[in-house]
Amino acid sequence: MKLHICHLYARLLNIYGDRGNIIALTQRASWRGIEVEVRAPGLAENLDPSWADIYFVGGGQDKQQIMIAEDLQRHADNLKIAANDGAVMLAVCGGYQLFGHYYKPHQGSELKGISLMDAYTVAGDRRMIGNVTVELPDKSTLVGFENHSGKTFLGKGLSPLGKVLKGNGNNGEDAFEGAHYKNIYGTYLHGSLLPKNPHFADQLITEALTRRYGAVKLEPLDDEIESKAHDKARLLKA
Ligand code: GLN
Repeated sequence: MKLHICHLYARLLNIYGDRGNIIALTQRASWRGIEVEVRAPGLAENLDPSWADIYFVGGGQDKQQIMIAEDLQRHADNLKIAANDGAVMLAVCGGYQLFGHYYKPHQGSELKGISLMDAYTVAGDRRMIGNVTVELPDKSTLVGFENHSGKTFLGKGLSPLGKVLKGNGNNGEDAFEGAHYKNIYGTYLHGSLLPKNPHFADQLITEALTRRYGAVKLEPLDDEIESKAHDKARLLKA
């Protein structure tokens, strides 16, 4: 088996070590003997919607979001085709905001998103910074770090990724964190996210491989260190 990962705007959207998510996916697949290839299309480069099993886009400051927002529109149709076909997508913070309908920064004009998810984001008056714990529908938890002023609100057809147990999540108001639709996941969790949430990394790998090869069950790994990191992060103050 081979896992194809497309890391969008790797150089511009890579705040708080978001690239660690690519390293975690690659390493956890390789440890199981699964070959991995990563492509990282940047500004003005093209992507083939039938190539990738997993798409990842990280976060950045408004400045970087402004730099990529228009370019991302070129990929809107291809990403919708891939999403409808069950491709796995993970979008963090600034990338998550642009996967929705729009992001309205404090200053300057609204940045159009690609509407992969029925959500919109408006800059609020306070920055939401700190450690976050999220409870997923299966009661497992995700831990991470958030730093955003954008407040994201989900449309009726879109489920949150989980419930905030600690921190702010989408907007600091409705106790929701992230979004989940088909195999697309949006989240505010940096940190990076996947190294210390190995169950979530494996969920993404499983969904991606199952789409290409039919039902896949991953061999378990020794996650002692990853689990310790997860449990320790749960104890941190917001
Ligand atoms: N510019 C966005 C905000 O502050 C995104 C920040 C980020 O990606 N960390 O809301």
